Amino acid sequence: MTYVVTDICIGVKGEACMEVCPEFCIFSEPEDLMSFIDPARCTDCGACMEACVVNAIYPDDKLPPASAEFTLINESWFRRKRSVRERVREIAVETGSPFVI
Ligand code: SF4
Ligand code: SF4
Repeated sequence: MTYVVTDICIGVKGEACMEVCPEFCIFSEPEDLMSFIDPARCTDCGACMEACVVNAIYPDDKLPPASAEFTLINESWFRRKRSVRERVREIAVETGSPFVI
C-alpha cells in the first residue's frame, strides 16, 4: 500500500504534508500544480493525510473512485514529469479548477 495525493491538491499545494513526512517522500516543483508521493519510499504512516487540511491524501486502497487515476499519476511523476504535468493540467481544466487559466 501507499498513500496518494489526489486532484484536491491541485492549486492548493503548500507544504503541510511534506513537513510531517518522516521519509521526506512528498515532492512538488514550481512547474507542478500539485504534490506527489513516492510509493517506493512511503511507509504508510498516515501522517500526511492527517496534516492535509483539504483532505487531498488517501491510502491507495481507499481512494474515491473518481480519483483512482492518481495512484498512477503519483507514481509516474518520479519517472516522467512532463507527461504527468500535462495530464494534471488536463484534469484541472476538466474539473474547472480556478487555478488554471
Ligand atoms: S498538505 Fe494537502 S494540499 Fe498541501 S501539498 Fe500536501 S496534499 Fe497538497
Ligand atoms: S504516509 Fe507517511 S511516509 Fe507515506 S507519504 Fe505520508 S507521511 Fe510520508
